[in-house]
Amino acid sequence: MAHQPQIVIITGGARGIGFGIGQCFAQRGASLIIADINLEAAQKAAAKLNTEGAKGSIGVVCDVSDRQSVEAMAGQAVAHFGCIDVLINNAGICPFIDIMEITPKQWQRTLDINLTGSFHCTQVVAGKMLELGTKGRIVFITSLSENFTGPSQGDYAASKSGARMLMRSFSTRLGREGIRCNAVAPGMILTDMTKHHWGKPEPAKMIENRCPEGRIGTPVDIGRACVYLTSDEAEYVNGITLTVDGGYTIGTG
Ligand code: NAP
Repeated sequence: MAHQPQIVIITGGARGIGFGIGQCFAQRGASLIIADINLEAAQKAAAKLNTEGAKGSIGVVCDVSDRQSVEAMAGQAVAHFGCIDVLINNAGICPFIDIMEITPKQWQRTLDINLTGSFHCTQVVAGKMLELGTKGRIVFITSLSENFTGPSQGDYAASKSGARMLMRSFSTRLGREGIRCNAVAPGMILTDMTKHHWGKPEPAKMIENRCPEGRIGTPVDIGRACVYLTSDEAEYVNGITLTVDGGYTIGTG
């Protein structure tokens, strides 16, 4: 049987897609570092995941946009578990503000969390993997917005298309040292981030009609893709974006 990664950091793992990713690794008996901006929520999530099969998971406070906070989180992970096998760059925000209305401060915040946050986490955690000789795996959670956009998605789409190229750049740098980087681009997934929109009957119906799979996605759909990309089954998969949208982008509705 293929080796499964054991020590897994998930940023923004306290809820939503990050928590669903945690559930998929928990089912495989991994130990999780739930790194979230909200310490209490991170600790609660880690405890819950330990009841779902994870082993000795911990919740750690981390603001991915703050370099010192990321360094402290990665240091804590290594001090506690001795190594890091997997990093999932999941933490993100999507403010949905018209590109003509968004303030420079709001614009910068989206880029700081979604793009620079993934840069901080990857550079710091990959540095630990190299130091410790770990054949690590890194997954960036991007979005369909790495290719598509709209009037209220300017900041978000810029951050996610940037994250795709950041992933590819790290992939070229780290591949020969045994560390693989890939991305998962989720389609419409029902979480707190999206429930105000896609939770409503009309948009939900539109998604069901357009998506060949006939339903909105779940966080676990994304978790399964992360498990695949970080497993030995994906040994020759490097630098790709795996779109997980139930076929939404090929549907015409
Ligand atoms: P969510 O429900 O809003 O959860 C995001 C999590 O990230 C929350 O626990 C949040 O903490 C945490 N977080 C926010 N800022 C952070 C920071 N600076 N440092 C560390 N943690 C932080 O969002 P989601 O829908 O699960 O989205 C997760 C990822 O998937 C994001 O990157 C998003 O862009 C991407 N994505 C989502 C969808 C979708 O349909 N949902 C589609 C495509 C891509 P608080 O709750 O305390 O703020």
